Amino acid sequence: MIPIRIAVLPGDGIGPEVITASLDVLRATEARLAGVRFELNFHAVGAGEYLKNGHPMPATTVAAFRQADAILLGAMGLPGVRWPNGVEMTPQIDIREQLDLYNGVRPIKLYHESHTPLKHYGGTGPAIDFVIVRENCEGLFSDRLTPRPPGREFETDTLTISRRGTTRICRAAFRLAQQRRRHVTLVDKANVLPSMAFFRQVFDAVAAEFPDVQTDRVYVDAMALFLVQRPHTFDVIVTENMFGDILSDLAAGLVGGMGMAPSADLGERHGVFQPSHGTAPTIAGKGIANPIATILSVALMLDWLGHVETRRGARLIETAVATVLANPSHRTADLGGNVSTAEITRLICEALP
Ligand code: ATP
Repeated sequence: MIPIRIAVLPGDGIGPEVITASLDVLRATEARLAGVRFELNFHAVGAGEYLKNGHPMPATTVAAFRQADAILLGAMGLPGVRWPNGVEMTPQIDIREQLDLYNGVRPIKLYHESHTPLKHYGGTGPAIDFVIVRENCEGLFSDRLTPRPPGREFETDTLTISRRGTTRICRAAFRLAQQRRRHVTLVDKANVLPSMAFFRQVFDAVAAEFPDVQTDRVYVDAMALFLVQRPHTFDVIVTENMFGDILSDLAAGLVGGMGMAPSADLGERHGVFQPSHGTAPTIAGKGIANPIATILSVALMLDWLGHVETRRGARLIETAVATVLANPSHRTADLGGNVSTAEITRLICEALP
């Protein structure tokens, strides 16, 4: 029996609800796997924890994460709960930097034609199935915690692109593409920003290491257009931190919204798995949140854990989600239905092969 230690961070808003749902699916999957046991350790983090104890994610809690085999996170942050200087707390970004989780993996997959606002996609039309690989530890977010002198008449944010950071994220994208349809699209703004021209140079050097993978290069503004016009033409997309943040939400909108978008933030040793959405405070506590993004994040976690059996577990979950969503009456409110969080979770557990 392999004990796998999972640090579980329910967080704020709908975080605890979608985590409860995903753990039901994890336990039901565990029962189908041979020789795998999950040991769950719960940690209080987020805006609620800040209000109670003065910090959204104390260093002692982060130290505990380092002992875990994987970290499963709901969502963190509440409207109006900010640091005394007025800046929003972003422990979910801080944790990426502290654990060096540079590789933000955002799979975008259309499960049913009724989930997309695009005509002719899904069903007998083209599939939407691509992954955004977002650089998580530098780019335009990296300088946000630098203290600024008060009372200035301007502010600047620095967009940092390093050779090391770009090389490792591009390699991660190419390795992922080798397991998929062998195509990587670089998204940048190399026509305007020197930092982005450098990103492209490093991308080109990495591309030469992977002659079996095809590439193309698209400016971020054009990419916003192409993702709406022809999303089926993309396989793996690699980009800078903030471009990845923005395009991930646009892409989620193509496949049913934030409730359908899982994510993994990966480093060499640690991995955090969470839905791409935030805490959705307006629907928190109502039992109507869509848990599928979190359930699919559990599948990403099982895949990344890398044992033959956990990988099999990931496939079981993906199959169960696809089976449930094939029936158009199985929809939570965000997808136009009236099935509750608990009910869709029960259906997915029952559909596990
Ligand atoms: P953040 O700034 O952390 O991204 P946000 O409040 O701006 O948070 P989300 O919490 O992701 O953004 O919510 C965006 C929209 O999607 C909201 O209308 C929210 O209610 C909806 N939403 C997000 N997640 C879910 C979910 N799991 N189920 C149903 N609706 C959701």
